[in-house]
Amino acid sequence: MAIELPAQPKVGMVSLGCPKALVDSERILTRLRADGYAMSGDYAGADVVLVNTCGFLDSAKEESLAAIGEAIAENGRVIVTGCMGNEAEAIRARFPDVLAVTGAHQYEAVVEAVHEAAPPGQGPFVDLIPQALDEGGGIKLTPRHYSYLKISEGCNHGCSFCIIPQLRGKLASRRIDAVLREAEKLVAAGTRELLVISQDTSAYGVDIGHEPREWHGRQVRAHMTDLARELGSLRTPDGQVPWVRLHYVYPYPHVDAVIPLMAEGLLTPYLDIPFQHASPSVLKAMKRPANEARVLERLRNWREICPDIAIRSSFVVGFPGETEQDFAYLLDWLDEAQLDRVGAFRFEPVAGAPANDLPGAVPDEVKEERYARLMARTEAISAARLTAKVGRVLPVIIDEVGEPDEEGDIGATGRSQADAPEIDGNVFLRNVAPSLRPGDIVEVEVEDADAHDLFGVIAAA
Ligand code: SF4
Repeated sequence: MAIELPAQPKVGMVSLGCPKALVDSERILTRLRADGYAMSGDYAGADVVLVNTCGFLDSAKEESLAAIGEAIAENGRVIVTGCMGNEAEAIRARFPDVLAVTGAHQYEAVVEAVHEAAPPGQGPFVDLIPQALDEGGGIKLTPRHYSYLKISEGCNHGCSFCIIPQLRGKLASRRIDAVLREAEKLVAAGTRELLVISQDTSAYGVDIGHEPREWHGRQVRAHMTDLARELGSLRTPDGQVPWVRLHYVYPYPHVDAVIPLMAEGLLTPYLDIPFQHASPSVLKAMKRPANEARVLERLRNWREICPDIAIRSSFVVGFPGETEQDFAYLLDWLDEAQLDRVGAFRFEPVAGAPANDLPGAVPDEVKEERYARLMARTEAISAARLTAKVGRVLPVIIDEVGEPDEEGDIGATGRSQADAPEIDGNVFLRNVAPSLRPGDIVEVEVEDADAHDLFGVIAAA
């Protein structure tokens, strides 16, 4: 007798916003998978579509609203979650047909809404149906060879341009053993690069008194330095040290302790520090954490200990009250700091942020002009730093391998340790072996550079 399996409801997902939102999407999907749902890669095949929104900037909100509109037009059965979920009324006013709106990290609420919209298949066979999972047991939206590792939610600061604490609440750190277990599983399942994310990685564990937990027979604190050391002791199944990148690090004094781990090759020599500005008066108006004068000296010390360390940062131009003098200070500071990677934003008022009430709004044309000057300056610095790498042999992680061209040559795209996925540059390789795979880490001789990327060939063994 043939047993008829209950149909598996299918969930589509549109994930917008930052890597932190992507991790939320992965968690929601993993949970839904455990409840017997399948994934749908397109609108048409989905019984319900989840839109994970970003509500940080007005432009991101617009993008989120457009995505909700598209999902409604294409499928009609839409649940909204994520940062914009806190503006349920505005969403419902524009899209009265959305089935449910839940806020950021309300995993239970969003799962419940999916259950209501498309009840899970019942019966003992559902759990046996194979699912498209990564080997660690979770659903990953990032390629298998790199994974985001979220260590905390929320933030205790009150930067005047930011509404993240309003959207996501106060700092809530995960237990260190849970974070390390997740990291270990990811690496065992094929992750070669872990990207540690939070709103403030340096503050990890402050809210839970850096509570120690037992991990592999020893006590480990919920503290950035303990976390970094433990992540640095992970090994891939073939005995390699996985790349471990720290994002959103504020330059608190204890950051100095992780630089030697980078020099030893246990942590990727890369720090993503969102400085946002350099002028003391602008930083004060921004209410930035760890705003201290000795940062340049610390950068010099870090480079002495670990010459290959790459520093990435982002900056805001045209913050209210920013004078030409403040901006010139920032340019001079950048000349001194010689940052490897810089992202820049023109100040944009975010609804609900205290900075909107500050005096001295900078006219749009001045913002544009400063933005162009900042980009020109940082591009020149980046180009010089990349040119200095020509002739060196560097480890590169492969993201994509191309098809053979008419001469049979295969190209590949990868990243050096100075390049985080999505936000930094690439290393373009010529003439690779057909056996090369995404996730392979290879030694590359750098042949050329431009303002953002490197070009090279796999070094002779
Ligand atoms: S540190 Fe500042 S910018 Fe970052 S999330 Fe917290 S309040 Fe926002």
